[in-house]
Amino acid sequence: MAERDGILAIDQGTTSSRAIVFDTDGNIMATAQQEFPQHYPHGGWVEHDPQDLLESTVNTCHRALKAAKAAGVHARTIGITNQRETTIVWDRATGEPIHNAIVWQDRRTAERCAALKAAGHETMVAERTGLLLDPYFSATKIAWLLDNVAGARARAKAGELAFGTVDTWLLWKLTGGRSHATDATNASRTLLFDIHRQDWDDELLALFDIPRAMLPAVLDSAADFGTTDADVLGVTLPIEGIAGDQHAAVVGQGCFRPGMIKSTYGTGCFALINTGEEAVPSHNRLLTTTAYRINGKPTYALEGAIFIAGAAIQWLRDELGIIAHASQSEGLANDAEAEGLYLVPAFTGLGAPWWDPNARGAIFGLTRNTGVAEFVHAALDSVCLQTGDLLEAMARDSGTPQETLRVDGGMVANNWLLQRLADLTGLAVERPEVIETTALGAAYLAGLQHGIYDSLEDVNSQWALNARFEPAISRAAREHIVEGWHDAVRRTLTT
Ligand code: ADP
Repeated sequence: MAERDGILAIDQGTTSSRAIVFDTDGNIMATAQQEFPQHYPHGGWVEHDPQDLLESTVNTCHRALKAAKAAGVHARTIGITNQRETTIVWDRATGEPIHNAIVWQDRRTAERCAALKAAGHETMVAERTGLLLDPYFSATKIAWLLDNVAGARARAKAGELAFGTVDTWLLWKLTGGRSHATDATNASRTLLFDIHRQDWDDELLALFDIPRAMLPAVLDSAADFGTTDADVLGVTLPIEGIAGDQHAAVVGQGCFRPGMIKSTYGTGCFALINTGEEAVPSHNRLLTTTAYRINGKPTYALEGAIFIAGAAIQWLRDELGIIAHASQSEGLANDAEAEGLYLVPAFTGLGAPWWDPNARGAIFGLTRNTGVAEFVHAALDSVCLQTGDLLEAMARDSGTPQETLRVDGGMVANNWLLQRLADLTGLAVERPEVIETTALGAAYLAGLQHGIYDSLEDVNSQWALNARFEPAISRAAREHIVEGWHDAVRRTLTT
C-alpha cells in the first residue's frame, strides 16, 4: 500500500474532544471523538477539569493516528482548534492547574463586568479589543481565579503561574511544558489583546488587574508552536496551526476574500464576515475579531450569533413532541402552507440587532389550517430570517458588499432550509463537501506552515463545493416576508 502524508486536526470542543486525520487533499481519513464531564458547581457556573480536556484529546489523537496509519496515511503535522475563551491557570513548575477551567458559558463574573461597565470602561475596551464587557471573555475569569484561589495573585506576580485558553493548555502539555503560546485569534477573545496593534495591552492588564508574566506569547495562526513530546503523545510531531473554533471554520470554509461569510448552524448559529485588513467597529453590538493571522498580517471579521437555530427544531421535537426526528423537518416544511405564519423563537431573549434579553417567544398568524408542517416551516423560517437580520446588522456596520454565505453545522443537511436561506437573504448559499470545517481549518493552517500548501490561494483551490442554492424568489416577495417578520418581532419586544 502506498504511504501518503496527512494532517492531524485536534478539535477540542465544549462537550467533546475530537481528532481527525485529513489527507493532504482535505479528505477525512480517520476520526475519533470522546465526551467528557461538565461541572456545574453553582447556578450559572460551568467548569471543565483541564486533565479531562487533555486526556480526551490524547486518547482521540491516538485512535485517529492509528486508524489513519492502518489506511496508509501518516500525519506529518498537527493543527489545534478549540472552544474559545475558556480559561485555565496552572503552575509553571509542576504543570498542575490551580483550579478547574472556567468555561466560556460561565456567568460568575457578571457583576464584575457590570461594575466595569458602570464605571465607563466599555468604550475603551471595545475600541481596543473589538469585544464587549461580558463574562464570556477570559479577562474577568482570570481575575476571579487570582482573587479566589489562595495565594494565586502573589504567585502570578512572581511569574510562577501561567494563563492559557484551551489551545495554550494543550500546547503546553503536548510539548512537555516547552511551549507557552497562543495564536492571534484566541488572544483576540481574552479582553487583554489590542487587535489593532496585535499585542497584549498594558492598560487592559491594569484594568483587569492581571500580571503580564502569566500571558503566553502570541504567534500567527500558522506558526511553529512547538513539537510534541513522545512521552505524552507517543509520537514527535510539529504543532503548526492554532485557531479558535469559529475562526478555524472561516479558514476551513475558504472565506479568504472580504465579504465572504461563514455561518454555522448547530444549536445556535455563529456567523462571521471577512472584512479584510480593516477591523470594523460595530454600532450594533456585533464583535470585531481577528479572523486569522498569517505571515504577520491580520485579517479581520465581524461576528454575530443567533441564540436559537437548531434549538427551535429541538423544541418541536422534545418539548412539543410534534416531530420524532430533526430530519423530518425537511419533508414537512416542503408540504406546508404557512404564508403569514411567524415563529419568533425569543426563548432566551433576542440578540443582534434587537438586543432585548427580556423578550420571549411567540407565534403569529395561526389559522385553522395551521398544523405540524406549518409549525416546522415557521421554525425553519425563523432561522433564515434571524440570519437575514444578522446580515443586515453586519451591512450597517461595514460597507463590505456581502458575497456568498458558506454554511456548515448539523442543520445544513436540510436542503429545504438552505434554499429558503438563499431566498430570504438574497445571497447564494454554499454547502461544502467536508462539513467538518472547524477541524479542516486547523488542518489547513498546519498544512500551510508545514509547506504542504503554498498559500491561501492554494488552500482555496482545495475547498470543494457540495451544493449551491441561488435565491429563487423576487425581491418584492422577499421584502414582503421580511416585513411580516419584523412586525412579529416588534410585537415580542419589551422595550
Ligand atoms: P451542536 O454542535 O450545537 O451540538 P450540531 O451541529 O450537531 O449542533 O447540529 C445539531 C442541531 O441541528 C440540532 O439542534 C438539530 O435539531 C438540528 N438538525 C439536525 N438535523 C437537522 C435537519 N435535517 N433539519 C433541521 N435541523 C436539523
